[in-house]
Amino acid sequence: MDIKNRFLRYVSIDTESDEENENQIPSTNGQWTLANILVAELKELGVRDVCTDEFGTVYAHIPATTGYEKCMAFGFIAHMDTVKPGKNIKPQVISNYDGKDILLTNGTVIKSERYPELPELIGREMIVTDGTTILGADDKAGITAIMGMCELLTERELQHGKICIAFTPDEETGKGVGKFALEKFGADYAVTVDGGAEYAVEYENFNAASVKIQIQGVPSHPGSAKGVMVNAVKVAYELHSMLPEKEAPEFTEQKEGFYHLMFVEGSMSQAKAEYIIREHDKDKYKQKKAFIEQVVQQLNEKYGEGTVNLILEDSYQNMAEIIKLHPDLLSNIENAIRNTGMEPEYFPIRGGTDGCRLTFMGLPCPNLGAGAYGFHGTQEHCTVEGMEKSAQVLLELVNIYAGILKN
Ligand SMILES: [Zn+2]
Repeated sequence: MDIKNRFLRYVSIDTESDEENENQIPSTNGQWTLANILVAELKELGVRDVCTDEFGTVYAHIPATTGYEKCMAFGFIAHMDTVKPGKNIKPQVISNYDGKDILLTNGTVIKSERYPELPELIGREMIVTDGTTILGADDKAGITAIMGMCELLTERELQHGKICIAFTPDEETGKGVGKFALEKFGADYAVTVDGGAEYAVEYENFNAASVKIQIQGVPSHPGSAKGVMVNAVKVAYELHSMLPEKEAPEFTEQKEGFYHLMFVEGSMSQAKAEYIIREHDKDKYKQKKAFIEQVVQQLNEKYGEGTVNLILEDSYQNMAEIIKLHPDLLSNIENAIRNTGMEPEYFPIRGGTDGCRLTFMGLPCPNLGAGAYGFHGTQEHCTVEGMEKSAQVLLELVNIYAGILKN
């Protein structure tokens, strides 16, 4: 199983997704290039039922071995796109990593104070960037692990139920998952492989809403403004000052939620602001939404009805509420990780995943790690051993589900 070269091959392909082109899926041609390579490689591994759909999603099925047709069908999903800057990635391989801070080619340093996992990775084969781009381990480490699992499966000729595989486009823009064909995929349960440590399990994510604020001011000549002028941009400022200061991304961690000011623009006559609201706990989430509604109401009472207009929309929900109804899924994942000699560790997700959308679409789908860290930045890094372990965990899941019949 040549995990390293597989990974290096995938990150050499530019698959940046493009927010600006979000109406086209995939949003970039590079994702097609990778999709076609993955189809060819799956066929080489002997997977016959492979195709792409019009959105560039790769669907592959490995049929159950004889006698295992009635077992649960288990699915594995990873995404093909990356954030920017993801062009011309120059991966640097450090063999026998010493566990210390890593000096990148451009002079920047990956420090253990920021990445506490570094000492854990001592002796491994570490892959980093030259410091000018992301690495693309998000999520090509996940793709590599799933492909590695397929390779192990063919080498070992194991008995198994139906295995479903998908490589998806435009996860980073959030647009790809809406086109995911659940029936075509055909799994009873699935995991996305799109996270940190190879023993990481994530199934609790934020509840999320988007907030758009429009403010209509009453402009006037400053010389005769007394009692007349309502300065829209100052109302935007006032609104922001009414939100709890410490409930912002820069002051919160773990399961703590926040109001995040994304954008503000304005003049005396009109202003606009955009926020996102994030909160793990469902009740607190409702409270946060109610609070911003109350703030808007107060401002309208002060400045006149229609001064502040609020558009509040739910974006996604915490999948924990569904996953907790399937305790076997989590215990099987825990066992798969333990069977490879590791101890599973749960991490709350400070964001959403495609798996959370899929879970609410009817396919319970927690997220597993693939031995990669520092996503969405130039200090992204992963280890070959981490991806190998991850592939073994996925194979263990296949093994475990070979013993579980469909309901
Ligand atoms: Zn990802």
